[in-house]
Amino acid sequence: MITAQRVLKAAGKYASRVGLAIRSFAGAPDDRHCPACGSDIPGFFRYGDARDWGCPACGSSPRERLMHYLLDKGRIAVPNGAAVLHCAPNEGSLVRRFRDAAGDYVPADIDPSRYHVAGIQKVDLMSMSDMVRFDRIYASHVMEHVPNDALVLSNIARALKPGGEAWLIVPLWDRASEDGGSDLSGRERERRFGQWDHVRQYGLDFADRIAAAGLTVEVIAARDLPPEDVGGMAIDDVLFRARR
Ligand SMILES: [Zn+2]
Repeated sequence: MITAQRVLKAAGKYASRVGLAIRSFAGAPDDRHCPACGSDIPGFFRYGDARDWGCPACGSSPRERLMHYLLDKGRIAVPNGAAVLHCAPNEGSLVRRFRDAAGDYVPADIDPSRYHVAGIQKVDLMSMSDMVRFDRIYASHVMEHVPNDALVLSNIARALKPGGEAWLIVPLWDRASEDGGSDLSGRERERRFGQWDHVRQYGLDFADRIAAAGLTVEVIAARDLPPEDVGGMAIDDVLFRARR
């Protein structure tokens, strides 16, 4: 669905990108760094309310850069030859990175037609029947779309091998999680949860929902990373690292 909100965000993003290109042409120093593509850049372009959002070289988002940073540092890892389920594989840099490391890379979505990713499969997390199959499951900005998140989290837990990890990122606010009923209109969802197809908004208590599925949770927040390390990378968001 194209909404006025989306059009405005896209227009702002374009204007901000053009501004960056002009600054760069005018000799602004490339004193910032993108861990997703390795480029040194003059800054990040705006997206909606987020001032430092996208990398002008590769388009990476703050959460995409968080993942690359953590992988670069070895805080998290894809074991060699691992079986990796990559849900909603929008982020091209992570598709490449996971595919290179994994022995069995499975990009998947409930609607595979939305992706140009080789080998994309149809997987409905609500009825996923895979058991003890994956070493890593990555789902960024997926859980706020699924009708029953308790069911999906237990399916994810079952699909992980012992010692396997799910890496989950969701949009967060600074209040408790709130679920919307299935009868909410798209407009009402956009008003309450920020986007027409989000059925809930999470707070940091998302960790409790993951734990209720029997997984051990580590919360890795961008704001807790050493500033001397991540200073110029415009990294944001929170990774919920869930271990079986
Ligand atoms: Zn980049």
